[in-house]
Amino acid sequence: MPDTWVVVGLDNGGTSNNATVLDSSGKFLVDRLVETPSRVTEGPEVAVESLAASLDGILELTGTSRGRVRAVGLDTPGPASADGVISSKGATNFPQPAWWGFDVRSALEDRLGLPVVYNNDGNAAALYAHHAHFGADASRHSSISAIVGTGLGGGVVESGQVVRGAAGMAGELGHVHIPMQGLLEDGQPLPMCNCGFGGDAESVASLTGIMTNLLPYWLTRFEDHELNTVELPAAAKLVRARGEDGDPLALKIFEQQAMALGRLFTIAANFTDPSAYFVGGGVVETGPKFREWFLEKVREHTVLREEQERVASFALVPDLDMAGARGAAIAARDVSGA
Ligand SMILES: [Zn+2]
Repeated sequence: MPDTWVVVGLDNGGTSNNATVLDSSGKFLVDRLVETPSRVTEGPEVAVESLAASLDGILELTGTSRGRVRAVGLDTPGPASADGVISSKGATNFPQPAWWGFDVRSALEDRLGLPVVYNNDGNAAALYAHHAHFGADASRHSSISAIVGTGLGGGVVESGQVVRGAAGMAGELGHVHIPMQGLLEDGQPLPMCNCGFGGDAESVASLTGIMTNLLPYWLTRFEDHELNTVELPAAAKLVRARGEDGDPLALKIFEQQAMALGRLFTIAANFTDPSAYFVGGGVVETGPKFREWFLEKVREHTVLREEQERVASFALVPDLDMAGARGAAIAARDVSGA
């Protein structure tokens, strides 16, 4: 059916753009990562050109004519406003002053001459997790996704749509305060987050949290541990593999992370009472046994009422490396009224 429409999803990252095409029947035309350089460090103009090249590339790869493209979904790392203006204070991925306050959504829309729908990467991944899990029933369900990476990202989906908030800052799950009593050991210092909060979800459930808070403490409790001889940033990255091997120090760290996510989900249970709780990030890239153990720990620490337990599900976010582009495409489809 050559005359049917498609939407394109573009996932912008620090080094690469990943692109996908979603057709009008709900099928993704690529089943793998299709990456091109993002060139974000060369400033906005070069980066917008690279996004345009990524779109041309995916259309060529899938044999899709440009005339069939109804809308483009774009996601980038934040912080950014709900409609794609990069934070005026800058962002890790967008270091040059030219990016500060830059409206990347409008710039790409002008460059392409096509409607562009924006989401931050956490929200795009949350949207994909929701649609992958619920399929045709997506609009009848709600969910919360927590994605553990360098920080703690994710999003809140209500009736199949991302909750954006007045300033585009809804679903910043990492900076929700969680109770620390019973999570921390006696004498363990209050974990601090880059945002300035002490004891928020990201201060525990993130790679940064491992490096700055959890690992330095646990190394004092395991004085003979081999990670004491490794520099902290490198040691933090080794914790995941040690956890899979059953290392007791690493398991202590992952238990605290699972407890933090469970407490975050307990807040969600009392706030939006979602149908599904999704966990994603580095932990999903581990072996099946370890990731199921981790998900079970999160579930254990999520306090639900009996009525909620009967209807709620817990799952891992699938296809994480493609989740951004796919979620961006789904947003473009839904917003463009398809
Ligand atoms: Zn924070």
